[in-house]
Amino acid sequence: MARVVPPVAVRPVEGAQRHPNGSAADRLSTVPELPEVEGLVGFLREHAVGCVVARVDVAAINVLKTVDPPPTSLAGLTVTGVARHGKWIDLDVDGLHLVVHLAKAGWLRWYDQVPDRVARPGRTPIALRVALDRVAAPEVAGSPGFDLTEAGTRKRMAVHVVRDPQQVPAIASLGPDPLDPAFDREALATILRGRRTQVKGLLRQQSVLAGVGNAYSDEVLHVARLSPYALAATLTDDEVDRLYAALRGVLTEAVVTSWGKPAAELKDAKRSAMRVHGRTGQPCPVCGDTVREVSFADSSLQYCPTCQTGGKPLADRRLSRLLK
Ligand SMILES: [Zn+2]
Repeated sequence: MARVVPPVAVRPVEGAQRHPNGSAADRLSTVPELPEVEGLVGFLREHAVGCVVARVDVAAINVLKTVDPPPTSLAGLTVTGVARHGKWIDLDVDGLHLVVHLAKAGWLRWYDQVPDRVARPGRTPIALRVALDRVAAPEVAGSPGFDLTEAGTRKRMAVHVVRDPQQVPAIASLGPDPLDPAFDREALATILRGRRTQVKGLLRQQSVLAGVGNAYSDEVLHVARLSPYALAATLTDDEVDRLYAALRGVLTEAVVTSWGKPAAELKDAKRSAMRVHGRTGQPCPVCGDTVREVSFADSSLQYCPTCQTGGKPLADRRLSRLLK
């Protein structure tokens, strides 16, 4: 049984404290990151674009971060596009935008036939229900739709209805997207230069790089054969080359895996593709050494000592420093 733990915020691991129980808080983390969000976006593009919004039910008012325009103003308008900004989903509804950050416990449940009943506040994981009418393809019977669901009590999901996605501060402040064709090796080198920050935390910082979280930063560092504690500014040219290749390679591979998958299958696809993340105690797929972890208050990182840290297990020195 999963323990109830505080959700992982998108922030660097610096300053984090060890979890009192000392074990991985998110051993099987399924927090949607760039590839899963890209998968959901692709799915919605295929299934929702061309549909007219029939109604929007807000069942958990706390996830709604904006008041004007109201969600009801989407009704009657056509979904004209779906885009991704970092880990955000952006439904363009004829010039109005429904933008969603799923956070740790949020997910999207798709219906080929959305329930008729209005989703209301109560003891249900449903935060928002969007009912659609298929006008573009009337030969396909039924009214599809989706729920945004959030498990647990700590509601971190964020839904904004805005006229421009850049009105969402967390979107306006996003760093470059690592899969943007313009994001070249030099763009990564610029990010790393002069930053005396641990590379693990830097990769997760959304204002520095958009879309990477705890799981894929573990995976990228493993492929790049870099310690999560390595300081960004001290990476050699060769290490920057490896980090760049790993970042593009790991994310591209994961996006390809996500493509065409129904929303319901994306989490399992992610879980089974992980090399070290969430695999504490299992053999490294590259060298066979045992994958180890360092745990923090709200997250944990996994790595292979042989591949990444010269065979030495990482000590959590920052903990002793914090306790002084
Ligand atoms: Zn290894």
